[in-house]
Amino acid sequence: MSKTKGYVEVTRRNWDADFYADMQRGGHFIISEPAEYTIDGQRKNSLYGAQSPLYGTDFDSEQAFVERYRCKCGEIQGKAFEGFTCPICKEKVTFKDTDIKIIGWISYGKNRLINPYYYHKISSVMPKNTFNDIIYSKYKITTNGIREKAEADDFDTPPLSPYSGIGIDEFYNDFEDIMDYFKKKNKNKASSIDMILNEKNKVFTSHYPVFTPKLRPSGSTSDTYYYNTLDKDINTLFTLSENLKSCIDVERDYIIQRIQQKMVHSWDLVFETLPKKQGIIRSEILGKKRTAESKLYELLETLYKTISSRYFI
Ligand SMILES: [Zn+2]
Repeated sequence: MSKTKGYVEVTRRNWDADFYADMQRGGHFIISEPAEYTIDGQRKNSLYGAQSPLYGTDFDSEQAFVERYRCKCGEIQGKAFEGFTCPICKEKVTFKDTDIKIIGWISYGKNRLINPYYYHKISSVMPKNTFNDIIYSKYKITTNGIREKAEADDFDTPPLSPYSGIGIDEFYNDFEDIMDYFKKKNKNKASSIDMILNEKNKVFTSHYPVFTPKLRPSGSTSDTYYYNTLDKDINTLFTLSENLKSCIDVERDYIIQRIQQKMVHSWDLVFETLPKKQGIIRSEILGKKRTAESKLYELLETLYKTISSRYFI
């Protein structure tokens, strides 16, 4: 982590590699449950959801960064309970440091998506709307109401390229040919296209990182839109990962398309906030205690920039 103020480390990530590395290192987890569940009329954060206690304890008190004792699920907290076994998660209460770098991963199994960074990059080396026209499969409704993959002459709108409507999987299979085609069409984009060609393993991904909810709190001040929208995206991205598991083929392409759109949307939300000097973190976390804990804000802002740029560029 850089200590230089305002510095954002820019690295292009391979999310699949990050996912496997995080799983091996331990401490990180796969998001496999909705964010909340209801028990006896009370809403709780799921252990393997996007608001999981596995992300670590809150920064919601002046005790931020001091020691915390809790069980795995967070139900039992406090030094007084050290060694006590939680009846819910069956784990002993131990000291757990807050690790703001914990990532919850949404997995899409063997399905391929385009990493949003490369989505923008590839879109920019093709004529307007052409990339969407390639990766979003086209369908027709047959006379008996069945949805079928469309052939070129079924298209309502003229195809924007010879690869119109092939979908992400075909784009993956013909990646080199397709990128070469656009390289020949647009010579001044050649160096960008070469970069994309060289980084094929980063272009496609089956995993999506969700960084700590401490850096995306739900507040009620000016930047509420950012957080609520980001968390809505995250919840949808999880729900769609579940839908993918049981869907039929024709639905699958549609679900993939929605995941792709949500992924890009959430990435844009994070990316747009990165250069801002007046931070979201400053205004959102701890709200009123701003002046007293400005050092904490500074730290959190740096963490936000570090973590989001680590995973979102
Ligand atoms: Zn527990």
